[in-house]
Amino acid sequence: MKKQKLLINGERLSKTLEKFADFGRTVNNGVTRLSLTEEDRLVRDYFCSCCEELGMTIKVDDLGNIYATLPGIEDKPPIVMGSHMDTVKKGGRFDGILGVVAGLEVVRTLVENNIKPKIPVMIVNFTNEEGARFEPSMMSSGILSGKFEKTIMLQKTDCEGTTFEEALNTSGYAGEVESRLKEATAFLELHIEQGPILERESLTIGVVECVLGMVCYEIEVTGESDHAGTTPMNMRKDAFFTTNSLITEARQKLGMLDDDLVFTMGRVNVFPNIHTVIPNKVIFSLEARHKDPKTIRQVEEIIEGLTTPGSKDGCEIQVTKLWDRDTVWFDKSICDLLEQSTNSLGLSYKRMVSGAGHDAQFIASYIPTAMVFVPSINGKSHCEEELTTWEDCEKGVNVILETVLAIQSK
Ligand SMILES: [Zn+2]
Repeated sequence: MKKQKLLINGERLSKTLEKFADFGRTVNNGVTRLSLTEEDRLVRDYFCSCCEELGMTIKVDDLGNIYATLPGIEDKPPIVMGSHMDTVKKGGRFDGILGVVAGLEVVRTLVENNIKPKIPVMIVNFTNEEGARFEPSMMSSGILSGKFEKTIMLQKTDCEGTTFEEALNTSGYAGEVESRLKEATAFLELHIEQGPILERESLTIGVVECVLGMVCYEIEVTGESDHAGTTPMNMRKDAFFTTNSLITEARQKLGMLDDDLVFTMGRVNVFPNIHTVIPNKVIFSLEARHKDPKTIRQVEEIIEGLTTPGSKDGCEIQVTKLWDRDTVWFDKSICDLLEQSTNSLGLSYKRMVSGAGHDAQFIASYIPTAMVFVPSINGKSHCEEELTTWEDCEKGVNVILETVLAIQSK
């Protein structure tokens, strides 16, 4: 007879998620829990008390990252689960916290079944993932992986001028640099998809293979300001009309590259922005994301080609690349294990990419890492309407549990 599978307690999971949402819950059933605020301090305290109840030991590093460990029989690098507990302003009840509560539910399941793991099991909460209070996002995992400089990050300020360092000290969660996550057997991050694909395809689980590479440009168009009523059309250098042609050209050329390419012109500033004055300057952003670096190179050629003089109404065009990042591929063997776990639980799934950034992409630089997505209803996230069904949350956590057990018995 086949052995009964160990499964998590779905009802306890949903209650726990609701309990965590009480820390910063908004009137419209969303959550505002910016990093290192009072709400964040309280949710951290609560998380630590839940872990201590399970016999876990808590360590906090110099960035406020919390590590709760259930000891193993063998003294091996831990299997780590987790994500972040901070949210954006008026965010949802699932982004980030699901990955942390998943870890808690996995450990609760192990403990209540008297399973002492061979390899230690750890839950992590990364500080300031959202970057909603202190830019950039994924700040602490970025420092851990050497991507960001700690001394520079400590001086980042929120909109009231408080530095990250001050907020860290006030929170009481500034710990020891020695406690930082240095090595692990694996890192597994369960997260909501934050997009519409799984729901559209009626699938339950996304095994995430990579976080998309991207490139971000700023384009500045300079013309001349004149009177909007007295200057004939053929004597104008209208920066906004030129911008309009540039955007049309970029959209048309980028749109022909690849169906999976996504690109956005999300920020546009028009100067002087007065209806009686011909605009003399427009500055806009243009970002694009794709998994294949060759496609990103083609994107760069197209965007940089936009400066070619032609019928640009005599305006000057300056294209500046602000930054780029390569696609981060997750660990193949961990992805395979996640896929096996999903199959063994009889869940529908697909391998997919993440268009959004996550702590896992930085941790992947030094720890075997992969992510699991569960569907977001209507693809909504970073808003109070953010929703994932309790059933899908439960299934996602079961995939994490099954994978932790599979790594244990390897
Ligand atoms: Zn998140």
